[in-house]
Amino acid sequence: MKKGVPVVSIVGRPNVGKSVLFNRIVGEEKAIVADEPGVTRDPLVHLCEHEGKYFYLVDSAGWGLTDDLSELIQEKIQEVINISDLILFVVDGRSELTALDHEFVDILRKSGKRVILVVNKMEGRIDREEYLAPFTALGLGEPFPISALHKQNLYELLDLIISLIPAPEEVSSEDKSIKLAFVGRPNSGKSSLLNALIGRDRSIVSEIPGTTRDAVDLIWDFNGKKYIIVDTPGLRRPAKVEEGLEELSVQKTLQTIRRIDIAIMVIDLSVGIREQEKRILHYIEDKGKSCLIVFNKTDLIPSLKERREFEKIVPQILQPFDYFPFIFTSAIRNYNVKKILPWVDKLFELRNMRIPTSQINRAIGEALSKTNFSKKGKILKIYYATQVDVAPPTIVFFVNEPEIMNKNVVKYFEKFLRNYFGWVGTPIKIEVRKRE
Ligand code: GDP
Ligand code: GDP
Repeated sequence: MKKGVPVVSIVGRPNVGKSVLFNRIVGEEKAIVADEPGVTRDPLVHLCEHEGKYFYLVDSAGWGLTDDLSELIQEKIQEVINISDLILFVVDGRSELTALDHEFVDILRKSGKRVILVVNKMEGRIDREEYLAPFTALGLGEPFPISALHKQNLYELLDLIISLIPAPEEVSSEDKSIKLAFVGRPNSGKSSLLNALIGRDRSIVSEIPGTTRDAVDLIWDFNGKKYIIVDTPGLRRPAKVEEGLEELSVQKTLQTIRRIDIAIMVIDLSVGIREQEKRILHYIEDKGKSCLIVFNKTDLIPSLKERREFEKIVPQILQPFDYFPFIFTSAIRNYNVKKILPWVDKLFELRNMRIPTSQINRAIGEALSKTNFSKKGKILKIYYATQVDVAPPTIVFFVNEPEIMNKNVVKYFEKFLRNYFGWVGTPIKIEVRKRE
């Protein structure tokens, strides 16, 4: 996924064909198409591309919308509108406009957002302007006829969409969304934590492992920031599940990790860390992602003394990933859940931090004043170092003898820089180059 990608959302009353349109644009059967309104669920978000331009498509179907808009639904619609750069307002070209359609028109007008009035179910009528007259009268600009079901005029609609949204490179840098995912084995409490965090019942919580819906991205606007929560099916339990299946869900988790900035690794405190978690942590490090470790279900260890003792040995248990911060939570008691988001913000800030070259060199000077490294009688000299990239922070060292900077030496500097600048939670990449 890319940063600063514009958001396009699909809104309209039930049964106009929003889900079909979403599926057509996304090219998969993601949304549930139902004749009956009443299935409440969250907006689906999907990264789409057309002619080299990217946008997030948000589908707001399935909110249990009935004939009038309850306060809750209005709030949800407002939320979606607020985060959108462009809105596809879908109406049914084969039926009369309803009171609910008109309510949407009012909301959209007030929002001042850019709208495309999409008239659906126009198969066989695409070029018949006389059918569009009642929609023109809505004052939302020229109606755009399509047939989602019969795939008519969809390519043209995509052309129009990308002509109306800013290209990613024109999007302001403040518009960066933070992509995160809850990872960890089933039953560790990922869905419960997510629900406690967002404050609404967004995903299914169950005793049966693996019942979390298949990967769905949630888009969440909070305190003026955009978070994209990439859902994950979770790791399978090693015991009962067939080898192949387990491997498949690990693979899915790895796929998820590639798409995010920050992983929230949820560990059931009563189960602890096993090889699978370590493997995932390795992958997170390898891909240069940040991580917050969450020990959940603290309520199962009610003794504070026991918890304190465990806390002391956590850094050892986490080795060599002790630079990932950890917290203790209880999703069902709502304990410490509010610490997650400040950590996410902090980790995002740190992975994008840029340190001036002069400060890096001062730190390295100090690191070298404490010890020195040599090989075959040659002493390591670091002429200078400079940060060349962020997310993850990447630093190039220019040295006399690159061979001296083996893995352990690199680790030493990594650790030193981490402590010096408070660079927690993110891998730091060090590249070594020779300079005469
Ligand atoms: P939503 O509630 O707005 O998400 O609507 P759905 O996507 O679930 O579609 C509602 C009904 O309209 C379904 O029965 C679809 O098959 C039907 N539908 C969707 N698009 C078209 C279309 O282009 N033409 C016709 N005739 N029916 C459509
Ligand atoms: P997921 O598979 O990782 O998404 O886990 P769920 O959120 O579905 O939770 C699995 C089970 O653990 C459910 O029965 C939850 O009620 C329970 N659970 C989740 N968080 C906690 C917690 O903090 N304490 C306790 N005791 N149970 C929890």
